[in-house]
Amino acid sequence: MTSLLPGAATLGVLGGGQLGRMFVHAAQALGYRCIVLDPDAISPAGAVAEKHIKTDYLDSFGLAQLARDCDAITTEFENVPAVALETLAGMRTVAPAAAAVAVCQDRAVEKAHFEAAGVPCAPHAVISNEIELAAVDPGLLPGILKTSRMGYDGKGQVRVASAAELAQAWEGLKRVPCVLEQLLPLKFELSVLVARGADGQIVNFPVQQNLHRGGILAVTEVPAPDVPAEVEKLAIAAARQVAAALNYVGVLCIEFFWLEDGRLVVNEMAPRPHNSGHWTMNGADVSQFELQVRALAGLPLPEPRQHSASVMLNLLGDLWFSDEGGPTPPAWDRVLALPGTHLHLYGKADARHGRKMGHLNITAETPSGAHAVAVQAAAILG
Ligand code: ADP
Ligand code: MG
Repeated sequence: MTSLLPGAATLGVLGGGQLGRMFVHAAQALGYRCIVLDPDAISPAGAVAEKHIKTDYLDSFGLAQLARDCDAITTEFENVPAVALETLAGMRTVAPAAAAVAVCQDRAVEKAHFEAAGVPCAPHAVISNEIELAAVDPGLLPGILKTSRMGYDGKGQVRVASAAELAQAWEGLKRVPCVLEQLLPLKFELSVLVARGADGQIVNFPVQQNLHRGGILAVTEVPAPDVPAEVEKLAIAAARQVAAALNYVGVLCIEFFWLEDGRLVVNEMAPRPHNSGHWTMNGADVSQFELQVRALAGLPLPEPRQHSASVMLNLLGDLWFSDEGGPTPPAWDRVLALPGTHLHLYGKADARHGRKMGHLNITAETPSGAHAVAVQAAAILG
C-alpha cells in the first residue's frame, strides 16, 4: 500500500464516541481531514471532525458518501456491523479489516483465535443450545456466564455457582449464545497495546496494569507496579502473536489476567485504541491514537518510548454527583494545580452515572511520584 501523506488525505471513522474523537484529534494534528459517520446528531467525534455523516452504520447512502470522501477508513468501536466494514473495504482501504473485527465481536470466536494462536485463555464452554447447557463440565463452576456478543464494561455477565444458577442465568440472558468461563483467582489485570502495519511491522507499548471497579476500568498504571519483568515479557510476546495471527492492521489491545498461581491468561481483545492506553497521550512520545492514524495511513510505526511514569484515572459521570443534588463539575482548577496533571474531557454535555466523561493523565519522573499525585487528585475528585 502507498502511504497517504499527511496534509493531503482524508481519514474516515465509523463511530462518534470518545475514541473516535481522540483519533480525530491525532489525525488533525498530522494535517489529515476527518469524517465521522455516526447516527447520533451530537457525538464527541462528530463535534470535532471536519464533517459528520449522520446516518445509520448500515445506510448505503451514508457508507457510499464516507467511501467517496475518504482515502482510508477505520472504526472506533468493535460492534459496528461487520457488513459495514466489508462494504467499505470494497471501495477503500479499511483497517482493521472486517474479518479481524468480526473475531473480536464474538467471545467464542475470539477464544478460539487465542487458542489457535497458542495463547492460553480461561477454561470455558460455549453455550448456544440446551444440549451444550446440559453438557457443561461442572469443573467450570463457579463461573461467569457472558453473552458472546455485544458485552462491554461488565454488561451481559452473570456470576453462577451451580448448574441450576447457570440454567437460570442463561434463561435471564434470553438464551442468546453465551460463553461460560471458570471464575479465576485474579492477582492483577494487565493489558498490552500493539500496533501493526500492513507490511507486518509490529510495535508495542509497555504492559499496563489495570484496576476495574464495577466492571469498568478505573485506573491504569504504567509501568505496571506489581508485575515482574518475566510476566511482562510473556504478555508482550502473547499480544504480538495474537496480532500477527490475525494479520491485523492498526492498534489492538489485548487484556490479560495474571492469576494467583502465577499463570498468565488472555481475557479479551479490542480492535482499536483502548481506555487502558489513554496514558500514552501524555506519558509516551507517540500516542495510541497517532499509531492508529499511522497504521491506517500506511506511515512508519515508531517503537513507542515511555518518557514518564504514568497513572490514568477514568472520570465517570458519578464524579459530577459527589455532592447532594448536582450535576456539578469536579473542582478541575484544584486538580490541575497538581504537578503533571493532564485533563481530557470528551465534550459530553450530560453527566450520568457510569458514563465515561473523560480521563486524567498524571505524569511524573517516578512511579511513586505519579502514584502520590493520583492519590491527591482522587481525594479532590471525592
Ligand atoms: P467486558 O467485555 O465487559 O470488559 P470482561 O470479560 O473483560 O468483559 O470482564 C469484565 C471484568 O470481569 C474483567 O475485567 C474482570 O475483572 C472480571 N472477570 C471477567 N472474567 C473473569 C474470570 N473468568 N474470572 C475472574 N474475573 C473475571
Ligand atoms: Mg474487559
